[in-house]
Amino acid sequence: MNQMALLWAYQAEDMKADRLEREIRRSPLRQQMENDRTQHLEKQKQHKQIENQVNGLADRKDAIRDALQRAQEQLRGLHARYDAAPPSELESVQALIGEVRRCLDTINGYEKELRDIGARVRDLDQRASAIRNEAARLRSDFDKLRAMYDEQMPPKKAALEKQRAVVEQKRAEIPAELMERYLEVKRRIVPPLARLNGDQCSGCNTSLPSAVLHSVRNAGDALVECVSCGRIILRL
Ligand SMILES: [Zn+2]
Repeated sequence: MNQMALLWAYQAEDMKADRLEREIRRSPLRQQMENDRTQHLEKQKQHKQIENQVNGLADRKDAIRDALQRAQEQLRGLHARYDAAPPSELESVQALIGEVRRCLDTINGYEKELRDIGARVRDLDQRASAIRNEAARLRSDFDKLRAMYDEQMPPKKAALEKQRAVVEQKRAEIPAELMERYLEVKRRIVPPLARLNGDQCSGCNTSLPSAVLHSVRNAGDALVECVSCGRIILRL
């Protein structure tokens, strides 16, 4: 095999190794696991927020209960006052009725607020429960993915190591300066080698100017780069 053919064969193995490495790094399982973890954290945050809201409502409920008790005592006081000394003046009767009415309004207002709080707490409890279920589902999803990942990874890593050994073996057959040029182009574009496909570069499908075509066909061992993508064009 000539140097160009060796280099072309090297690229095939090199790309295979890179692909395996990419597969490990960007494993869909790994990405799903990350995704589950992010969502799980979000659920925990939402649950905490609801807990805080429920605690705030419980405090408010305690305060209203105290105020309600005071209003009820006040009402009993008004009744007692009436029983002890029923007013005889119309004005005093009206004033007392007014006080009783205001007291009852206050009591009704507090009772309504207690009912509203009760409804909101029930609603929040339901949401918290749905969030807990969702978090548990994410957790169990994560565990399943983790188990699959742990099972898949060792063979994948072994395959990569094996492929890297193949690449090293092939590399030994290629002259150092050629390899250096390959790696230099690879830093710019992957794969770094292309062939001629009619008058086109097989890497970017650009038709090459005739001067370049002429160089590729008559270059001997010199390497010619595609004017468009910069790949080394091999004459194979
Ligand atoms: Zn090209």
